[in-house]
Amino acid sequence: MTVYSGYIRMMEHEGTTPVRYRWSYANYQDEADKKRPGKSEAIESFSSEFLNDFLGKKLKLTSNGKIRCLDCGKPTKKSFNQGSCFECFSNKANNDLCIMRPETCHFHKGTCREPEWGKKYCFQEHTVYFANSSGLKVGITKEKPVSNRWVDQGARFGIPLLTVSSRREAGIIEHYLAGFLPDKTSWQKMIQGDPPEINLTKERDKFVRHLETKEFPMENEKGKTVLLNWNRTNIDSPQEIQYPILSYPKKVKSYKLSETDSIEDVLVGIKGQYLLFENGAINIRSYGGYHVVFEVK
Ligand code: SF4
Repeated sequence: MTVYSGYIRMMEHEGTTPVRYRWSYANYQDEADKKRPGKSEAIESFSSEFLNDFLGKKLKLTSNGKIRCLDCGKPTKKSFNQGSCFECFSNKANNDLCIMRPETCHFHKGTCREPEWGKKYCFQEHTVYFANSSGLKVGITKEKPVSNRWVDQGARFGIPLLTVSSRREAGIIEHYLAGFLPDKTSWQKMIQGDPPEINLTKERDKFVRHLETKEFPMENEKGKTVLLNWNRTNIDSPQEIQYPILSYPKKVKSYKLSETDSIEDVLVGIKGQYLLFENGAINIRSYGGYHVVFEVK
């Protein structure tokens, strides 16, 4: 029997044909030293095996109810924004609303929660893309390669539209395009099978032509209005992503982890950040910071 015990990170992955996943978790120095848990250094670990090797086997996931903040490591009774304590949720830039809605970036007003963090993470090249996860959707990412983001979302195909030099600019274009098409994935559809076929190249070309007829004014740090600059990308065909899947769950059921309920079922696939079982699925990202014992029977 294989056992991994620790506080969940998201599932790490590599490759696209197929994607290969590892269980990623952390333990904390204070607990290892048998000290009272507080803000503490995390000891990051990965499963030695790829989770792909566990397909067809029974897994058991058990939580003892303990949660530690992914940002500072402090124990927390409740997880905010998929893994933060209330203090980090309220103060950290990566938990600000502008991360979910990047068009509302307020750095230029001098109010970024952590300007140095913002400069490092939000002022770098971002890509606006189309992906097919549960249908056509628009999204943005700073990930390189862009396919890292598509894998996290469980997309089967993706194609970049354009690049810009900041998260805010990407958010402004995404927000505009979201007026025409979804910017969210339906997890229920995503865990039921492949999405309907979509000609992403054709959709991309159509929307890029449309964007070329538009101007996107935005306020700069001096309070002046400037026009947003973007560069179209020249990738001709969409990228395909293959996931390790033997079959899809028989039921569209979201498994929940709690102190009282463990999950025990046969792993039939992995897609996005979801473990797919015979009788349900669990979004591992939702449990960031939860202590879990991961057993392969
Ligand atoms: S740079 Fe902008 S988007 Fe990034 S955290 Fe700061 S205010 Fe938010």
